[in-house]
Amino acid sequence: MIIEVMPDIYRIEVPLPRSPLKATNSYLVKGRERNLLIDTGWNREESKRALFAGLARLDVNLEKTDILLTHVHADHSGLTAAVATEKSTLYCGEIDAELVNATGTTNYWSDIGVMLGFYGFPLEDLPDAMRAHPGRRYNPGIQQVFAILKENDVIEVGDYHFTCVETPGHTPGHICLYEPENKILVSGDHVLDDITPNITFEKRIGDPLGHYLHSLDKIDQMDINLVLPGHRRFIDNIHKRIYELKHHHEHRLNEVLDILGTGLRDAYQIAGKMTWDITCKNWGHFPPAQKVFAVGEAVTHLEYFRHIGKVRKVENQGRAFYELV
Ligand SMILES: [Zn+2]
Repeated sequence: MIIEVMPDIYRIEVPLPRSPLKATNSYLVKGRERNLLIDTGWNREESKRALFAGLARLDVNLEKTDILLTHVHADHSGLTAAVATEKSTLYCGEIDAELVNATGTTNYWSDIGVMLGFYGFPLEDLPDAMRAHPGRRYNPGIQQVFAILKENDVIEVGDYHFTCVETPGHTPGHICLYEPENKILVSGDHVLDDITPNITFEKRIGDPLGHYLHSLDKIDQMDINLVLPGHRRFIDNIHKRIYELKHHHEHRLNEVLDILGTGLRDAYQIAGKMTWDITCKNWGHFPPAQKVFAVGEAVTHLEYFRHIGKVRKVENQGRAFYELV
């Protein structure tokens, strides 16, 4: 489905089969000389068909279209290689540009496997979890050259002036785009409406949750009328949504402290005791890829406490355990 959100800004919904996210919002901004496509979808057939059908309906000349990624995740970056022509510029934040290319290598995924093992993920479940991981299955599949966007860089498309706002947290190189005249924020997965963006551990930035909360504060100070997020509905009251997201993480942090109150544990055990919004009998029945996200989320909350000195990490025989200080 295509919606014209503002004059010359269109949302194309790109389906993500069997994902709880349901679809990615891909935005096309039509310009006089060049168009800009913001985020794409998984590199799989159903998503590709929908994106290309949308672009054809909007009569888009891909030779005159540049592509911007708000962040590395395959539901945003997957189809860049399919859409890009030799004349397209691919924009991305610096660390995420490296990560998009890294996700196309086997080394990256074996490193993730080693890291998950370090945090207590059962080794016998790792092959299934890695096989099911959408980032491994649906990434662009080839190495690409990116133009790096930094804070305050401006991309002009038609009458719009999009300014890059660095918002590390959901991923280390996540960026949003702000259009000051119309007070629009293209938020990627930094702020979503009825979903809490997942904060997964990434060794390239320590304390991703701390960065994420800081990036929420940064956006909270901006004058924004309309948010165009990477998934689901548009948001008109971003300050209310930021308040809810911060409240969610506060609740989560307290939950982690309560679990740690019962003694030394690894992140996998802690994730198994946290509450998750997923239709599943229990932790044992979690789909393997969801378990990976849950462990990542547990680690980011534990690392947040470690950075403020409330929790310590103890390493024993190549495994990490956490305890209260
Ligand atoms: Zn994402």
